Amino acid sequence: MAFEGLSSRLQNVFGKLKGKGKVTEDDVNEAMREVRLALLEADVNFKVVKEFVSKVKEKAVGQELAKSFTPGMAVIDIVNKELTELMGGTQSKLAKANKPPTVIMMAGLQGAGKTTTSGKLAKLLQKQNHKPLLVAADIYRPAAIKQLQVLGEQIKVPVFALGDKANPVDIAKQALEHAKEEHLDYVIIDTAGRLHIDEALMDELRQVHAAVNPDEVLLVVDSMTGQDAVNVAESFHQQLSLTGVVLTKLDGDTRGGAALSVKAVTGCPIKFAAMGEKIDSLEPFHPERMASRILG
Ligand code: GDP
Repeated sequence: MAFEGLSSRLQNVFGKLKGKGKVTEDDVNEAMREVRLALLEADVNFKVVKEFVSKVKEKAVGQELAKSFTPGMAVIDIVNKELTELMGGTQSKLAKANKPPTVIMMAGLQGAGKTTTSGKLAKLLQKQNHKPLLVAADIYRPAAIKQLQVLGEQIKVPVFALGDKANPVDIAKQALEHAKEEHLDYVIIDTAGRLHIDEALMDELRQVHAAVNPDEVLLVVDSMTGQDAVNVAESFHQQLSLTGVVLTKLDGDTRGGAALSVKAVTGCPIKFAAMGEKIDSLEPFHPERMASRILG
């Protein structure tokens, strides 16, 4: 289960505070020392940890605690609020085009879960009575087109493909026209990934971006890769102006660092979280729920 280590360590720290009738500044300092270590061990970015701890301390030793009848609980409450803020505060919704179709460009490194997530997102939109079109613009990874077609068949969502000889820019443009003709209201473009970020990849993505002017550019990152996921997100964001991040594999034993740092480091909100291999395992990301889950 995700965040298991972090969660149990934080619960340990706060267990000690909970019962206290009076919480001294020393108690808070001691607790925050442990919180700091727990976050670092969960692979949260060190700058993010530093800022987080100082914010919590500032609030905890201030007014709020002195007024509280249950100061231990008050500290937990402050941590909960700050964790929520760290992950973006409120849920960040998917943008919608003024005039359909809404175009969503999916990006990410190979293996992050981009193709799978494209299918999951189509399914989620379909459940909300939308008519999505999946677009197979990853022409490099063997079997990526077939994989998307199989997913599309499974969920009964049309897949636009022109094979692996066509140019991704042409595929994206023609898919958009096709969606307009067929009155489909969402276009989800599965773009090419690579094992590492490289100039050729970014060039291609920028060209696709310029050709279809997407309403959303979602970066799919594997949360199991921790700070690497955050670094990847930062590079993509600099090159491509992302509108959001999708964290995948949160069902694995991720330490949580990516979920807790990506918004603070990149400024890009986490819009969805994928928690499994099944087609219906994509959910809108709710910072407050995730914070509560971590704190137990
Ligand atoms: P792409 O190269 O980015 O298109 O990656 P794929 O969509 O092919 O996914 C790579 C692997 O990760 C596949 O085996 C997926 O089933 C798996 N995967 C994707 N998302 C999740 C997730 O949220 N949880 C788990 N456990 N596996 C996932």
